[in-house]
Amino acid sequence: MEISADFDGGNIEVVAVDAGGEGRNAARLALRADGRADFRQWFFFRVSGTPGEAWSFEIENAGASSYPKGWEGYDVVASTEGPAGAPESWVRVPARYADGRLSWSFASASGTAWFAYFAPYQTARNRALVARIAADPRVRHESLGASLEGRPLDLLSPGEGPKPVWVIARQHPGETMASWAVEGLLERLLDPLDAVARRLLAEATLHVVPLMNPDGAAAGHIRTNAAGTDLNRAWRNATPEAAPEVFFVRERMRQTGVSLFLDIHGDEGLPYCFLVDADNVPSVTPEMIARRERFAAALEQTDPDFQTVHGYPKTPNANLDIGSKWVAEEFKCLSMTLEQPFKDCANSPVPALGWSPERCRRLGAACLTAALAAL
Ligand SMILES: [Zn+2]
Repeated sequence: MEISADFDGGNIEVVAVDAGGEGRNAARLALRADGRADFRQWFFFRVSGTPGEAWSFEIENAGASSYPKGWEGYDVVASTEGPAGAPESWVRVPARYADGRLSWSFASASGTAWFAYFAPYQTARNRALVARIAADPRVRHESLGASLEGRPLDLLSPGEGPKPVWVIARQHPGETMASWAVEGLLERLLDPLDAVARRLLAEATLHVVPLMNPDGAAAGHIRTNAAGTDLNRAWRNATPEAAPEVFFVRERMRQTGVSLFLDIHGDEGLPYCFLVDADNVPSVTPEMIARRERFAAALEQTDPDFQTVHGYPKTPNANLDIGSKWVAEEFKCLSMTLEQPFKDCANSPVPALGWSPERCRRLGAACLTAALAAL
């Protein structure tokens, strides 16, 4: 078999491919670290071989990844679409995690397969999304600036209302579920027959950055940009040299103000959708907490894949290097991180798919109902 990760968002290193006997090909693989930082977790690669051939794969350094707990109860995302372009439909293939190694078997009737940590969301799809949304006359489109490698940082601003609502996704480039969610959010927002969307566009002006870390996404990183910066630890002191992506967004936010901020992510370990609040910032007010409770209750009711029982433990002091904490403190507004699983929702499982692009899209769309409730 032949293994390639030399494309947008690709990541894997081939240690060796052995003819395992009885026509069985066994690939020994390794996760490649982010370019300038010691994070590794994301993988995305293509396999070509003989149709129907049995393959087995083992990621030998899974136990040395950034979030080894991410492999417990995790099943690999796979597609058997053809070799050209990017696959659109993905299923889950059972995987086994033992002794620090993640392994699975597969046979592709077509002789082609793609495997990834989660359904990828490549640069071309983001570009198409931006073009489609920006073509709507209700949307203003601008580039906030260029990433370190010269990619545009797109901002889409639909709406006419006085309340500035900011939504950003993919600070962590390997958390592709964030892009799927923001796609669902934007498409619902511009549905002319959706009354929630119409009301929101009348009450608020949205500012959406669908891809905060275009360099990391193209390079197949899990966490950092081209300089090795974890953008979601760079908000307090963002510089144009280390974190221009955050620097530009902060500058624009100071011009628009912020009434509500939602930063969309994925969590490697927990099998749940959940919010991380900013109730622990120094300037938190009862109104900020009440709004957050309204947002969470409306989201849970609209899309029960989201839940409020499981999440991160509460901490007494906020780390203001984190985007949602910095925004809460700076603008004294409702500010949250939305986490989605790489695995499945244990409260609402769909075993054949796990957490999936379509479920991400629906969660993103449901966030509009929650935002309206909170505003
Ligand atoms: Zn994240």
